[in-house]
Amino acid sequence: MTNTIEETKRIVPKCDGEAGCDKPVTHLDTAGFGYCTDHGIWRRQYEPCRKLTPAELNRLARGQQIEKY
Ligand SMILES: [Zn+2]
Repeated sequence: MTNTIEETKRIVPKCDGEAGCDKPVTHLDTAGFGYCTDHGIWRRQYEPCRKLTPAELNRLARGQQIEKY
């Protein structure tokens, strides 16, 4: 597995809410970080955080970019 740091921020289907959280991403905040359902609800207390649409989740699953918040 290779980890390439790209210049443009890439939204990866991994929760940024907590180190080691491997639940699927379902929410996105204004900074472009992704969160699982639990952490998305938690994050919403501090930052606007919206639920991703099924179409966006499909794009993430294919490794494609999605629109920022
Ligand atoms: Zn999480």
